Amino acid sequence: MSLSIASLNSGSNGNCYYVGNDEGAVLVDAGLSCKEIESRMGRLGLSMSLVRGVVVTHEHDDHIRGVTVLSKRYRLPVWITAPTLEHGRLSLDKQLVRIFSGPQTIEIGGLQITTFPKSHDAADPCSVIVASASVRVGIFTDIGLVCDNVIRHFMQCHAVFLESNYDENMLEQGRYPYPLKRRIRGGGRATCPTARPSNYLWPTVRRF
Ligand SMILES: [Zn+2]
Repeated sequence: MSLSIASLNSGSNGNCYYVGNDEGAVLVDAGLSCKEIESRMGRLGLSMSLVRGVVVTHEHDDHIRGVTVLSKRYRLPVWITAPTLEHGRLSLDKQLVRIFSGPQTIEIGGLQITTFPKSHDAADPCSVIVASASVRVGIFTDIGLVCDNVIRHFMQCHAVFLESNYDENMLEQGRYPYPLKRRIRGGGRATCPTARPSNYLWPTVRRF
């Protein structure tokens, strides 16, 4: 069975990824408005009727902006960790909240969703792999720093959405205020002592 994958948007103005087959689909993050998600899916010929749930990777606004409206409008369950729910202050219908924690594999609409912690300055950030039959698609966002977890899971994927735009020269010469530069450089290191800059992944990409 073929798997459809789409990045509806990626970056600090909103993240939302669609992964699904003929029987079911999931959205990983909903950092665009509900209307924008509907519009972009429509342009790609993707139907909301196949979407069985939303998986939230962390509470930053560019990952959760549309979650509440989307969940209400389509009665979509939202898979989220307890710290992310608390810090995101989402007003979700309790009946539609599905709590997960730590590394876990969840089944949503016939798809296997594997979550694992990542380095990022959020309450309980995770990355996600969506699998259908033997095909595994990774959604790794906000990868400023790469830890062993990311590398291990990256190697298991057939395709990966990788949001990783860390560049030391751009950061140094850019106009960000110093506290933000410091946050980008090392914000996630405290949660993952082995974290390295994301360009560590490039040799792995070339072997792919
Ligand atoms: Zn973030």
